[in-house]
Amino acid sequence: MTLATQCPVCAGTDLRPVFTLGNVPVICNQLWPDAQAARAAPAGDVDLVRCGSCAMIWNAAFDPDRMVYAPGYENALHFSPRFQEFAKALAAGLVARHGLAGKHIVEIGCGDGHMLDLMAQNGVATATGFDPSMAGKPSPFTARDGVSIVPEYFRSDQLDRPFDAILCRHVLEHLDTPMDLMRDIRAAIGGRSVPVYFEVPNAGWMLDAVSMWDVIYEHVGYWTAPAITTLFRRAGFQPQTVSAGYSDQFLMVEALSADPDPDAIAQGTAAVAASAEAFAAAANAELDKWRVRLSALQGRAVIWGAGSKGITFANALGARAAAPLAALVDLNPRKHGLYAPGIALPVVAPEALVALAPDLVLISNAAYESEIRAAVAALGLSPEFDVIAG
Ligand SMILES: [Zn+2]
Repeated sequence: MTLATQCPVCAGTDLRPVFTLGNVPVICNQLWPDAQAARAAPAGDVDLVRCGSCAMIWNAAFDPDRMVYAPGYENALHFSPRFQEFAKALAAGLVARHGLAGKHIVEIGCGDGHMLDLMAQNGVATATGFDPSMAGKPSPFTARDGVSIVPEYFRSDQLDRPFDAILCRHVLEHLDTPMDLMRDIRAAIGGRSVPVYFEVPNAGWMLDAVSMWDVIYEHVGYWTAPAITTLFRRAGFQPQTVSAGYSDQFLMVEALSADPDPDAIAQGTAAVAASAEAFAAAANAELDKWRVRLSALQGRAVIWGAGSKGITFANALGARAAAPLAALVDLNPRKHGLYAPGIALPVVAPEALVALAPDLVLISNAAYESEIRAAVAALGLSPEFDVIAG
């Protein structure tokens, strides 16, 4: 089976094009010590396609062998107060809805164990997480009785311990063979009724909001409600709820083990198809607009924000349109002096703009627009501003 010819959910072969980004960094958040290393950073193509049968959307050009994480890569979610509130309510709700107090839970891809700790706070007897990125790393979240992290890739034969529920958050979108994981979990559950909770980025929201810079090489799958429902039913799970949360940016599935329905196709595929087509038209128009704008710019431009959006944007422009770009600006001092992958732009502190004297400042996060305008004005500069949409 190959992603270039077959749907990873239903094995359908009717692939419809959605959107392409050529030669993007394989790991867009990894910064490099010098321009040469940045230019040589691993790159790959994004060729988003949609399955004509189940509406799954994925990168048909994804090559799992390219996903080699260099040392220092940090994949931890930023625990903003808002995210913490979301996670707290989730843990309490899962324990209450499924009667998990005094029971045993397993989390696949637990990161630093933040959710394990929350589940223990809500009364589970043991919370065991699996995550290879935690090898050799201490966790601040394993002090509570019953909480432990196995710093390895999850394998179904590790489910030889007691478990009464399985959690898996922000893992499925990285897998080129998601059905394998689901079938492994289902096999380990056997004849019991065990609840599972899965959470992924909500591709339905991404399509409708035309959040095109959420398309990154690290994500092979872009999950919508119909596609994830089809995956669950085929693997032997009956979804109880499939819902959007965290301002619709996450897709959340709570399901119980059931008999597999190997031919299932969930409802709603036509709506996903329409959303995908609208997304493609809007995203391509947006890219064209920026290429024209920057190709015509007499002078220098900088991007404010050296995160995945600014870096993916710069690389997606292509060499000619990206030529006026001089730097990425970021407040985080740990990023200063480093270079963005692919495009090899330096990351500088705001004060460096005085010497660069940009004619155009591109804002990568609209939420900070007024803050950025004020900071630039305080440096005595008066460039044009524009916001990178999506
Ligand atoms: Zn399919």
